[in-house]
Amino acid sequence: MRIAFYTTKPYDRFWFEPLGKDYGIDIHFLDATCDDETIILAKGHDAICVFVNDHIDEAMIKQLAEYGVQGILLRSAGFNHVDIQAAAKYHIPVLRVPSYSPEAVAEHGLALLMSVNRYIHRAYNRTRDFNMSINGLMGTNLYHKTAGIIGTGKIGQAMIRMLKGFDMRILAYDLFPNKDLDVEYVSLEELYEKSDVISLHCPLTKETEYLINKESIERMKKGVYLINTSRGALIDTNALVEGLLSEKFGGVGLDVYEEEEGLFFEDKSNEIMKDETLARLMTFPNVLVTSHMGFFTEEAMQAITIETLENAYALKNGVELVNAVTVKS
Ligand code: NAD
Repeated sequence: MRIAFYTTKPYDRFWFEPLGKDYGIDIHFLDATCDDETIILAKGHDAICVFVNDHIDEAMIKQLAEYGVQGILLRSAGFNHVDIQAAAKYHIPVLRVPSYSPEAVAEHGLALLMSVNRYIHRAYNRTRDFNMSINGLMGTNLYHKTAGIIGTGKIGQAMIRMLKGFDMRILAYDLFPNKDLDVEYVSLEELYEKSDVISLHCPLTKETEYLINKESIERMKKGVYLINTSRGALIDTNALVEGLLSEKFGGVGLDVYEEEEGLFFEDKSNEIMKDETLARLMTFPNVLVTSHMGFFTEEAMQAITIETLENAYALKNGVELVNAVTVKS
């Protein structure tokens, strides 16, 4: 089996090169992202393997079908970057890694929360310069505060477990409330109005796009902390900037950004930043942005690699595709 492996980073090679050999899979590592110009590189391969910022639309899927490509392997849980309906139309299975380490992402969300709340990002810069003043770095206790969790799936639950360690009250919202969880399910409106911390853990769908917008921000408490480790377009970033300007937020921690494609995962430090919204976000002292690295732990990378190769193995050997993304009718 030959796989065209798009958007290869050194850490992908580190994990996939040796394990790919163990699975007897021939991986063709490509630096290129997968787009309408590079899709031709998939020719001669049995499957392609892509990451979160490789957007695959219907025209590209049609081309894959013409090349005889038999599957799309996602190195991610989220699948909003692939036209799933089109893949079904052309009978190309899309296989994802549904769960590799919810704790990895939740722990990163917590790191963002702790950092923006206690200004660790600013304190680090100050003390390196022997500026030992603590003026302006006052945080708030999390103890006995209220957290609002939107999306109580695997990562949301991991976040809930950790926030309970701070003795926080947990409000939650999910389309499908989980009766086994010891949380208070409330309406979105109530969650916005009562939460001191709001953390997003639902997928990006048509329904959740711009879930956090001008109206929802207006409902939130003054001084709220907003954490997004899920997908950038859950938040209308322009509305977020307006909210930050009006001093609504105590802090904002973002691991994802709606315009991250082509930007996150890349070194742009020698270039002029053309994205003015991102540049504006970076000017707020109470905003911390990381570039989609919630998943990035050794345990999660190992699990992603093994599950992706298991998916490839199943595709190659006609085994049941347990991780296929199905189309909602
Ligand atoms: P999951 O499928 O286990 O949980 C998602 C939950 O969201 C489910 O309980 C579902 O019912 C709920 N949901 C769906 N639509 C909703 C809606 N409209 N409103 C409220 N809730 C809704 O997924 P997960 O493994 O917990 O992952 C959550 C998200 O985290 C993924 O979709 C992905 O976008 C993101 N993620 C980010 C990283 C990262 O590195 N930052 C890594 C992995 C996943």
